[in-house]
Amino acid sequence: MSLLQEMMVYNKQFVDEEKYRDFATTKYPNKRMVILTCMDTRLVELLPKALNIKNGDVKIVKTAGALVSHPFGSIMRSILVAIYQLKADEVLVIGHHDCGMSGMSADTMIDSMKERGISSETLDTLSYSGIDVQKWLEGFDKVEDSVAHSVKMVKNHPLTPDVPVHGLVIDPSTGKLDLVVDGYQA
Ligand SMILES: [Zn+2]
Repeated sequence: MSLLQEMMVYNKQFVDEEKYRDFATTKYPNKRMVILTCMDTRLVELLPKALNIKNGDVKIVKTAGALVSHPFGSIMRSILVAIYQLKADEVLVIGHHDCGMSGMSADTMIDSMKERGISSETLDTLSYSGIDVQKWLEGFDKVEDSVAHSVKMVKNHPLTPDVPVHGLVIDPSTGKLDLVVDGYQA
């Protein structure tokens, strides 16, 4: 059975047995917060547990490295939707140690792309069109700096209202949080 089939079979049973009942809630966050964090597998269950977050408590936006790399990309838009449409009053940017985006080399990833059939011509075409793939794929060196940068991007965005934007780093093995930016002080 493929992973997808397995999931579909499990899902049917989940719905038939009404296991969703434990998760009933609304689209508005009980804790009035939106969290931007990384897609790392170790954080899937650990982060909510370590922050005492249950279904319905917060909005969670996930992206590689918890980075806000573009002021008008979909990450920033999601945060604004959470604030204006879904009643989130505070923003938390939570990066983590040992992140895949930390020290990520764009060159290595471009090499893998070539190995898997993306031609040099394609990369050249992008480059001639003014797209800097290298820069687009770039990770970060220090997670604290990258979190502080994303906090700044959100806080100083021209469309962000006056809300606290906090920055934190989580340990992906213990769930321990360290405060990088206290949004109440900013
Ligand atoms: Zn990560």
